[in-house]
Amino acid sequence: MSEVSVTKDAAPVAGDLVALTGVNKHFGALHVLQDIDLTIARGEVVVVIGPSGSGKSTLCRAINRLETIDSGTITIDGKPLPQEGKELARLRSDVGMVFQSFNLFAHKTVLENVTLGQTKVRKIERKAAETKARALLDRVGVGTQADKYPAQLSGGQQQRVAIARALAMDPKVMLFDEPTSALDPEMINEVLEVMQQLALEGMTMIVVTHEMGFARSAANRVVFMADGRIVEQATPDQFFSNPRSDRAKDFLSKIL
Ligand code: ADP
Ligand code: MG
Repeated sequence: MSEVSVTKDAAPVAGDLVALTGVNKHFGALHVLQDIDLTIARGEVVVVIGPSGSGKSTLCRAINRLETIDSGTITIDGKPLPQEGKELARLRSDVGMVFQSFNLFAHKTVLENVTLGQTKVRKIERKAAETKARALLDRVGVGTQADKYPAQLSGGQQQRVAIARALAMDPKVMLFDEPTSALDPEMINEVLEVMQQLALEGMTMIVVTHEMGFARSAANRVVFMADGRIVEQATPDQFFSNPRSDRAKDFLSKIL
């Protein structure tokens, strides 16, 4: 596999797809999200970076309503997050999520993993769902693995299946929470390349990652978090060459 090197040039389209306003979240005494204001335009790719424990995963989980928030508002495509029921299931399919740990259904085949949500939530007919699943599996380079079970695949293959599964729901935005952190080094690029391609195709993406090469080449914007706050936001060029805050300078000095 080649290095991830294509530079994203598709400009984001005006109109916020995701908007967080004054979002706060506590875990007991821990103020894990503090007055978060963040908007993401349609087609924009935002990379979220920051030290461990800074609230990046909680931020992603709040956007997908896997976590509730204590105050503030989150809207997806102008609509507030629903609290429960069918509306919530619908929202979750509008917001595709890819986790560090793949989270595939272990007792379902790869094909079933990518078909299930389509038939259950989107009410797509099984045959059409399978056709779409096969096309998506081809697109992420695992078409030949369709009839296997997740445990029979490499980590990189499983993560690409997880991406295909999320895409099968036609999400408006894709959230990636450290999608390559659990992978052996030689499998990282095959996953980043799929993500890079999605970015080039104009998918709106929020990506938590420590892969700074990906941030440089795919992101329109870098959001730097520390201690539950957004400390700094900038283009990748600005952020990496001239971080403004001491927290960001310190963080970059440790990872670059
Ligand atoms: P990051 O993804 O940036 O490493 P997280 O959002 O996972 O940070 O966590 C932020 C802080 O919240 C950490 O201190 C973590 O231990 C804490 N935390 C996360 N989830 C929970 C939870 N369900 N209950 C209590 N504390 C949590
Ligand atoms: Mg995390």
